Amino acid sequence: DTVGRSLDRAIAAWPDREALVDVAAGARWTYAEFGSAVDRLARGFLGLGVAKGDRVGIWAVNCAEWVLTQYATARIGAIMVNINPAYRAHELEYVLNQAGISVLVASQTHKTSDYRAMVDAVHAKCPRLRSVHYIGDGSWDVLLDAAATVTEEQLHALEAELSCDDPVNIQYTSGTTGFPKGAVLSHHNILNNGYFVGEMIAYSEQDRVCIPVPFYHCFGMVMGNLAATSHGACMVIPAPSFDPAATLRAVQEERCTSLYGVPTMFIAELNLPGFASYDLSTLRTGIMAGSPCPVEVMKRVVAEMNMAEVSICYGMTETSPVSTQTRRDDDLERRTGTVGRVMPHIEVKVVDPVTGVTLPRGEAGELCTRGYSVMLGYWDEPEKTAEAIDAGRWMHTGDLAVMREDGYVQIVGRIKDMIIRGGENVYPREIEEFLYAHPKIADVQVVGVPDERYGEEILACVIPRDPDDTPTLEQITEFCRERLAHYKIPRRLEILTDFPMTVSGKVRKVELRRRYGVE
Ligand code: ATP
Ligand code: MG
Repeated sequence: DTVGRSLDRAIAAWPDREALVDVAAGARWTYAEFGSAVDRLARGFLGLGVAKGDRVGIWAVNCAEWVLTQYATARIGAIMVNINPAYRAHELEYVLNQAGISVLVASQTHKTSDYRAMVDAVHAKCPRLRSVHYIGDGSWDVLLDAAATVTEEQLHALEAELSCDDPVNIQYTSGTTGFPKGAVLSHHNILNNGYFVGEMIAYSEQDRVCIPVPFYHCFGMVMGNLAATSHGACMVIPAPSFDPAATLRAVQEERCTSLYGVPTMFIAELNLPGFASYDLSTLRTGIMAGSPCPVEVMKRVVAEMNMAEVSICYGMTETSPVSTQTRRDDDLERRTGTVGRVMPHIEVKVVDPVTGVTLPRGEAGELCTRGYSVMLGYWDEPEKTAEAIDAGRWMHTGDLAVMREDGYVQIVGRIKDMIIRGGENVYPREIEEFLYAHPKIADVQVVGVPDERYGEEILACVIPRDPDDTPTLEQITEFCRERLAHYKIPRRLEILTDFPMTVSGKVRKVELRRRYGVE
């Protein structure tokens, strides 16, 4: 179905239940109110001349208007382009031109970002860009006022013509391994994926979902917003950008039943001073996803955050995003140690990355996925699309995985992150998992750096629990010696206070390798 028709069903079924809460703005909408606000904005875009297939950019931190723009553009068949809120002017210029954006919705300022100044700096170089509307500014009212020229009937007539296979969204990948790529996704792609993610964790109109992950990324807008609205649940925005204290406060005050985060967000929350003083008793579930979810961290989330049913999802922007997910009744081992089973109506296989031959269960190889969730393609990049999706419509993920005998999948790591030390393949993930158990280590990333003797050497980048009591390389070596093969033991150590991150909260190992990769 289309995103708009799915929202109509939620409005009809649960008009008086809360749909959206923006904690920072102190604003809340029922489904009926949310529906009216979406319609008005949709008519505003139409009044400005936005037509089916036109690209509308959204360059904003998390706020209610982000969500309204998501549903309003979907209602009129426009293609919303999510622009990374951390971008600087030259990156914005690239996306505006590459996607041919005609109307842009933007935040005014956030932290060190002055969005208006950056738009002003590049506007003249973006000939397709007709108008910019800053949230909370007079230019936003211009957008809303344009609704006066379009009737509800016109909007509904247009909506009736939309197909679920029409593109609705261009989402950029996180840029963890290189330059972000724009995945073109249809209503069918993202609405179904959001719906099934919600099904797996049994969302209903009773649920209140705390979403501290950025909407610009699929985790926020699909697994968050679309999973919630397709089940009548409420979307709770704790803050414009991730803030561990604001997140826990929102869970407590808004009585959230579900909490999302990438692993580093949960780590920050668990280690927050005063963590134990928050009342998290309303939580039952939530999702951890986006990068390897350490078993130790998952166990703490289950035990200390009251999230007995917390789920891990694995996926990628190009597959709308989720391909595998743990289930509600999984035991602790599967819940914390795997990325779950394949989702309904999706296929996965594990192949030899060189020959492409399907491997037996239990053997590590490249994970490939196929099904309704595979993107239409990368925007305006047919060669890259052909590299990623083969003739049999299989998406090649670039991730190494094992499918166990029980059908549960474990992610070994990214092909690009694998370390080859003296001819031995070393998977950083395995060493990271091991080091999480070290009492002095709060967070750890392992990367390969060039080495004259072994080709690559293993570097552990550690964030200590206590900055005044940091572990030494000798202590780490000692810790590893009993339990890790000799060739997997890190030979270099860097103590850090934070990691270079993408906005979606992933550690940029590329950057760590660049920074410390000198012999
Ligand atoms: P880019 O493709 O631009 O380098 P990216 O791959 O990080 O960036 P996304 O589409 O946001 O962009 O992320 C998908 C990737 O995230 C997957 O290919 C996988 O490597 C990783 N990932 C997602 N979920 C999990 C998970 N549960 N466990 C391990 N890795 C995960
Ligand atoms: Mg990727």
